[in-house]
Amino acid sequence: MSDVSDKDVEPPWGASGGVRITSVRAVLTAPAGTTLVVVRVDTDEPGLYGLGCATFTQRAAAVATTVEEYLAPQLIGRDPADITDIAATLHVSGYWRSGPVLNNALSGVDMALWDIKGKQAGLPVWQLLGGRCRTAVPLYAHAAGRDAEETADEVRALMAEGYRHVRCQVAVPGAGTYGAPAAEARAGARPPLTPNAWDPAAYRRTVRGLFEHLRQEIGTEVELIHDVHERVHPTDAVRIARDLEPYDLFYLEDPVAPEDIEWLRILRARSVTPIAIGELFTNPAEYRPVVQERLCDFIRVHISAIGGITPAWRLAGACELFGVRTAWHGPGDVSPVGHAANLALDLAAPNFGIQEQHLFAPAVREVFPGCPEIRDGHLWPSDAPGLGIDLDEGLARKFPPRPAAPGRAWRPPRRADGALQRP
Ligand code: MG
Repeated sequence: MSDVSDKDVEPPWGASGGVRITSVRAVLTAPAGTTLVVVRVDTDEPGLYGLGCATFTQRAAAVATTVEEYLAPQLIGRDPADITDIAATLHVSGYWRSGPVLNNALSGVDMALWDIKGKQAGLPVWQLLGGRCRTAVPLYAHAAGRDAEETADEVRALMAEGYRHVRCQVAVPGAGTYGAPAAEARAGARPPLTPNAWDPAAYRRTVRGLFEHLRQEIGTEVELIHDVHERVHPTDAVRIARDLEPYDLFYLEDPVAPEDIEWLRILRARSVTPIAIGELFTNPAEYRPVVQERLCDFIRVHISAIGGITPAWRLAGACELFGVRTAWHGPGDVSPVGHAANLALDLAAPNFGIQEQHLFAPAVREVFPGCPEIRDGHLWPSDAPGLGIDLDEGLARKFPPRPAAPGRAWRPPRRADGALQRP
């Protein structure tokens, strides 16, 4: 990559800021067991560098190769100030575009450039986006139990900690469940053909019972969310949205898979339960019909999977025109750098809806000094320039990613007859 001269990569207007990119690297680390991918972009100004989240944990090596073999040669020698042009140029630089591997690689670069710009200006990224619209960012936490009583107990505990929004999941006895611990089959139940099989019909009945119980026991002082995780036939998604109407959800998440998005038209015609969608979308254009036709209320974007802050900020602006709010994805396989990017967007977007929280393990906080602070059910910003977060590479090396093993990254559920349940 060093045989590429500045002239090969320079845009017609040259390097207006006078600073040039000198290196672009991917750093893989797994302080909590999950492989995180972070991109570091260095410049010829001493001490000036940026960090970005490129975590596609299931294909981490493919992202790292994309960053170092294909993107870095197009970046070394460029002015890091040209974020918009760099994002647009890199997006089409392989002619074929989009997809989670390329987009995560682009996101690592994009966030790092915003981080650099903030450090150059001495301002946090949320200031560069127009300044804050709110004091702190309301978070939703996860409650899950082996039965409705256990889930209710967790909701009460979270409310006592200050959370006003809680995602609620519950086990289906004797069956596999998304987002909840396993619960034993009821006494006398016939043993399943496939152990731990996913049972969509039992799930639909159980989840209705969960929310009936929660509203009876806890009342209406808390906003409730439920994640279907695309695990039912769209017909059942419509039935679940209707079944849960009496329990006044904040939203129902990912009721259908990206391949079944047309079903949202039918769902919207039959239910007023608010919908969040899009965790699996990997192209901002996928949101166009969903937002334009107001088929959802919240966009559920994994921002590194669509290319980073630049496309996410533009998408948020487009959604604002249609009354659609943001609910950026915030699981443990988003690095703290990615969570800091979520925080910047949350603070600055007028149409912010809610933010999913993740509590970082102590080792993660040590590897990433400056992790955003969580208090009273909110994420609190700092005034640190850029994304306000660092990476201790020496410590990161002490937590190398475990080698990939077949089937370990993501094991799809199966139904009672052994057939695959997408996703
Ligand atoms: Mg989800």
